[in-house]
Amino acid sequence: MMLDIDVIVVGAGPVGMVAALLAANEGLEVLLLEKSDNRHVQSRAIGITPPSLEILQHIGLTDLLLDKGISVRFVRIHDETRLLCSLDFSQLPDTFPFVLAIPQHRTETLLEEAIARVPSIHLLRGHTVEDVFIQGEQVEVYGGHSQGGRFHFICRCLLGCDGGRSITREALEIPFDGASDSQTFLMGDFEDNGTSGDDACFFLRHAGRWNHFPYPEGSAVMF
Ligand SMILES: Cc1cc2nc3c(=O)[nH]c(=O)nc-3n(C[C@H](O)[C@H](O)[C@H](O)COP(=O)(O)OP(=O)(O)OC[C@H]3O[C@@H](n4cnc5c(N)ncnc54)[C@H](O)[C@@H]3O)c2cc1C
Repeated sequence: MMLDIDVIVVGAGPVGMVAALLAANEGLEVLLLEKSDNRHVQSRAIGITPPSLEILQHIGLTDLLLDKGISVRFVRIHDETRLLCSLDFSQLPDTFPFVLAIPQHRTETLLEEAIARVPSIHLLRGHTVEDVFIQGEQVEVYGGHSQGGRFHFICRCLLGCDGGRSITREALEIPFDGASDSQTFLMGDFEDNGTSGDDACFFLRHAGRWNHFPYPEGSAVMF
């Protein structure tokens, strides 16, 4: 049992890792609990938007990410035969007027490497949170290890960053007003031999819609 840690973050996805880094930046001691033993590597979020890049600048990560990703400044939308229109992000009044194309697993790798450099963040993988109780001024967190065994931690502040099916939200009876989208799509990372360079392209075809985003090192994500 770890007593009186400042902050427990449940979930070491991108949100949990950024939250842990921001809290540590404020001088807080952080325990980051993650149920999976390994990081996910599937194709997920394709890029980082300008406001997120500004937030990541506070924890010194933006330059690292810019180095690893592709700055997408144009989106081109085509129908069967012609270019319908282009969106020019470079006109945005932001510090970073582009979407940074970078696979989510690479972003997570950089975040986890940053966490490893911060002594006040303790990342524990294989720790599944199962219940959370607020007891006066403190929060009690109970769960199980992936190798068997139980844990019980107490903190002053808990951040539930455990994704769409959050056990934290459920335990604390916090309502979730979101709804499922009925659309289905296929997404994957492929080698790119095309000519669209660093632009994102949307193709609106009779057979269906497909989108193409550039990724670093000549690969592209399509869905
Ligand atoms: C196929 C696919 C495509 C996507 N494409 C895009 C996209 O193009 N653009 C975009 O913006 N987003 C996209 N997303 C969504 C994006 O992946 C999520 O928005 C993002 O992962 C949310 O981050 P998060 O940290 O909130 O949650 P998650 O990434 O879900 O992380 C939550 C973490 O909490 C851990 N956890 C869960 N329960 C517990 C528990 N009880 N105890 C301990 N740990 C726990 C999980 O293991 C996980 O590591 C896509 C997602 C998928 C699946």
